Amino acid sequence: MKEFDVIRTYFTNRGASRKDVVLRAGDDAAVVKVAAGNQVVITTDMLCENVHFFSSTPARAIGHRAVAANLSDLAAMGATPAWISMALSIPSVDEEWLKEFSDGVFEVAEYYNVEVVGGDTTQGPLTITICAKGLVPDDTYLTRCGAKPGDWIYVTGSLGDAGVAIESINGKVEIEPKHKNYLMNRFEYPTPRVAAGEAIRGIASSAIDVSDGITSDLQHILTRSKVSAEIDVEKLPMSKALLETVGAEEALRYALSYGDDYELLFTVPEDKKGGLDISLSQFGLTATCIGQIKGGDSKLQLTRGGTPFIFNHSGFEHFSQK
Ligand SMILES: [Mg+2]
Repeated sequence: MKEFDVIRTYFTNRGASRKDVVLRAGDDAAVVKVAAGNQVVITTDMLCENVHFFSSTPARAIGHRAVAANLSDLAAMGATPAWISMALSIPSVDEEWLKEFSDGVFEVAEYYNVEVVGGDTTQGPLTITICAKGLVPDDTYLTRCGAKPGDWIYVTGSLGDAGVAIESINGKVEIEPKHKNYLMNRFEYPTPRVAAGEAIRGIASSAIDVSDGITSDLQHILTRSKVSAEIDVEKLPMSKALLETVGAEEALRYALSYGDDYELLFTVPEDKKGGLDISLSQFGLTATCIGQIKGGDSKLQLTRGGTPFIFNHSGFEHFSQK
């Protein structure tokens, strides 16, 4: 099978067909129309074998994750996803793999009404690069730089689930059968928080998605916004599956330091808290308040029950009190 056949067979005339696509795949480039009063938000994310997923990761999951990771970045900007284009490097033409992979791509794209408007394939190490484009009403996009002292810090969903799935694949943790599906799905088939991103548009003062881990992702907001933050580790949302798999103390380590959950982390000014509750409930969503933005120089302070809490990646310990 040649390159053109791969694209024609697996990636064209599939999935969402949007009215704002003027010219779809088949020419040198696609053409889309942007409705008046909207801006285009553009992001690119690359996934490499053995870096972002395992050789054992199912092809469908790789396709799903590749799209979900990009849509998660759009969600963090408050954008509604619209179009993606994809560059795919594959070691060989394995038709069974391509079918599963493309099914994974299109299941996410279709769900979020995203049209695949173009792509390219080449022979090489397994790498998927996607460029996703979304829309926001003029000047309503979210950034990392608007957090102010006094703003409250929120996170959607739960933290640490994908991390424990990764460590079970690495053979470091055993997951009970009853939690296996849930935790593995959190890593292999993440849900981009698109509706939450739309719900907090015009409300959140800053936002980011949790791809690297909440402490490092929050640090990006602190650095860009030139503020500090305090997080109460007892408020971190954790799933029953994570807690029962590794225990409460270890679960905290996963929630703080592992990424790949693709939840949204955002800040909300005090006077917009009511608006946030209304907007989230209209979308049928929830988010957990885990701390507050403080003044000062980009420092993250963890606390537990009002006491400073020291954390490092090999574990954590209570701040030794004099
Ligand atoms: Mg991101």
